[in-house]
Amino acid sequence: MKPPNPSDFPCSSSPPTSRPPHPPALLPRSTVQGKMASHIVGYPRMGPKRELKFALESFWDGKSSAEDLEKVATDLRSSIWKQMSEAGIKYIPSNTFSYYDQVLDTTAMLGAVPERYSWTGGEIGLSTYFSMARGNATVPAMEMTKWFDTNYHFIVPELGPSTKFSYASHKAVSEYKEAKALGIDTVPVLIGPVSYLLLSKPAKGVEKSFSLLSLLGSILPIYKEVVAELKAAGASWIQFDEPTLVKDLDAHELAAFSSAYAELESALSGLNVLIETYFADIPAESYKILTSLSGVTAYGFDLIRGAKTLDLIRSSFPSGKYLFAGVVDGRNIWADDLAASLSTLQSLEAVAGKDKLVVSTSCSLMHTAVDLVNETKLDDEIKSWLAFAAQKVVEVNALAKALAGQKDEAYFAANAAALASRKSSPRVTNEEVQKAAAALKGSDHRRATNVSTRLDAQQKKLNLPVLPTTTIGSFPQTVELRRVRREYKAKKISEEEYVSAIKEEISKVVKIQEELDIDVLVHGEPERNDMVEYFGEQLSGFAFTANGWVQSYGSRCVKPPIIYGDVSRPNPMTVFWSKMAQSMTSRPMKGMLTGPVTILNWSFVRNDQPRFETCYQIALAIKKEVEDLEAAGIQVIQIDEAALREGLPLRKSEHAFYLDWAVHSFRITNCGVQDTTQIHTHMCYSNFNDIIHSIIDMDADVITIENSRSDEKLLSVFREGVKYGAGIGPGVYDIHSPRIPSTEEIADRINKMLAVLDTNILWVNPDCGLKTRKYTEVKPALTNMVSATKLIRTQLASAK
Ligand code: GLN
Ligand code: ZN
Repeated sequence: MKPPNPSDFPCSSSPPTSRPPHPPALLPRSTVQGKMASHIVGYPRMGPKRELKFALESFWDGKSSAEDLEKVATDLRSSIWKQMSEAGIKYIPSNTFSYYDQVLDTTAMLGAVPERYSWTGGEIGLSTYFSMARGNATVPAMEMTKWFDTNYHFIVPELGPSTKFSYASHKAVSEYKEAKALGIDTVPVLIGPVSYLLLSKPAKGVEKSFSLLSLLGSILPIYKEVVAELKAAGASWIQFDEPTLVKDLDAHELAAFSSAYAELESALSGLNVLIETYFADIPAESYKILTSLSGVTAYGFDLIRGAKTLDLIRSSFPSGKYLFAGVVDGRNIWADDLAASLSTLQSLEAVAGKDKLVVSTSCSLMHTAVDLVNETKLDDEIKSWLAFAAQKVVEVNALAKALAGQKDEAYFAANAAALASRKSSPRVTNEEVQKAAAALKGSDHRRATNVSTRLDAQQKKLNLPVLPTTTIGSFPQTVELRRVRREYKAKKISEEEYVSAIKEEISKVVKIQEELDIDVLVHGEPERNDMVEYFGEQLSGFAFTANGWVQSYGSRCVKPPIIYGDVSRPNPMTVFWSKMAQSMTSRPMKGMLTGPVTILNWSFVRNDQPRFETCYQIALAIKKEVEDLEAAGIQVIQIDEAALREGLPLRKSEHAFYLDWAVHSFRITNCGVQDTTQIHTHMCYSNFNDIIHSIIDMDADVITIENSRSDEKLLSVFREGVKYGAGIGPGVYDIHSPRIPSTEEIADRINKMLAVLDTNILWVNPDCGLKTRKYTEVKPALTNMVSATKLIRTQLASAK
């Protein structure tokens, strides 16, 4: 049989099923009929071409009706279920669709609507739901935060002793019924009650020390109602996602799992109950608790990020229970190594028993791209190395069939050939890069002198006033700018026209900053659509998809580049523009780069070498750029590490190792510059108290950092006595909001900073880049920022 080649399938919603043409005659009946033991934890909801995104945004803009939106959603759900069913998947999830977020769906199920949305009871409709997600004219949205260590953001439940719970969204049951009506019996998925509470925060006005787990007794009755309805509708399986089990939990938190499932046991009787965990190794203690929960019949594990979990399973697995083995990676885009997975699975048959082993994905497929069929930009060779969600479904099924003795030899052979081609491809390996990166391991890279000596040398050259002002890099991206970039990319305008349009924009941005009297200027980044893509496109070893979107939050999706090979920098990437910008002003112009850790964390990364190795390679490429910028006369170079914090592993035991190579990578980029070259870095989060020593160890000359959104949490670390000798610019206003801060407000902020930071190290700047704002907001905000700074400078001078 011909191996399934994604491009052979014109319709994205019906991928290959890889069924043998005739049922093998000699196999036992039970394995010929019915589906093999295969399971998918969850599936992307956006649709192969982001259909849900466009439907949502059009509904929010009032351009389409609720019925239009519901129609798109129903069609997407049905095509996803059919696709999995046709691929041969036995345990197909339902209730993994969402209009916005699965945690918010759970909040709706429990009726835990914060008071400010004035919800009066009954079934929660779209309007209350979207108000919680996005805010409305009078009330702000609920807080959003990262889902574990992924780039997906969930809506944080706000709970307290007076939260009233009621069964207020029947979505899980109606989706189950909807699939059933299509002839597909699904496994309804709920966020488990303990993870739900552990992901919540105390509502406004509730003591920070309030025990969220004390609400278990209030939410379990609703879970019981949902379970009863699912049973009545005919469900025979249920899946509870309890991913917090992979975190470092204390005894009290672990005990909550035991008591929650003991309490649910009778309600769950008659159902097969799967507890699904993912994203990391599960700690041994938690594994013990998990595998002894009452009423539970099946356990799901991430065997990609949880390699050590495999040892736990091998050393003891409860008899008679199902093992859902997550061998197909839900967080990456690489084709599975089917032979390796099959051998892992075969070894697990001895542990769980032949009839209790189920092939699964490591986590929900919502963290990978949707369907390779829609990739028109990638060449066939690279495509043969990849599997997006639709292809992973096929892989899971192929593994389950192989395990049941129906191995599709042609499919496996094609997979082995693709893997071999990836391994030996000259596009992947660059010996020189490999050698240079290997030489970095175990060594240290630091600038020759300490930061205070460097700051003195820089000040002699730059001659900046106290409290120097600057911005983070980007200026507003106008429709016109986007058009210019698009047309240049599509070759509709010539290079000359493009360069002159960008030049004009840079000169406009320079002039504005000079008029505002900002001290250290930026060129505004008009030539960049995205801070990672811009560099990835110029580095070798990167590929870009046309539709490889992954949901980030709500209707927002990102399209991470794919790092497939050794990374090198054939040509300078930013020198042309930075030099041009510097030539337009006598003030220092910042060179603007994205750092290696951020490029790594915002890409799909190779799985054939450790992450740190890829990061070191990117660091070496950026190092070359830094040195070229310096040689071109750029005296201040900013290397953004916006995503350094979010790469922090989930388990504390792994933090030190990550921080060590991440910080080392950053230092590699700039260890070779002269004392007089000032290195800046920027970070987009403020909650860095726990990693402050690593941030100091980055040894940048100046760090600009988000600060204003989080009640100046950042400053508390300095209040607690941490010594910071380098320059620091905690953002003085929130760029995420269109609000224009007043001079007084900014001056007040600066004074607060001066109370904990030395005058000679403080910089004044906004929280982040200005890309998403309008000029009508940016100009007055920056005007006020500069006047506040001048006000304080005068006060400081007269106090002397
Ligand atoms: N230099 C980038 C900008 O200003 C930084 C963006 C970011 O931190 N996310 O847009
Ligand atoms: Zn930022």
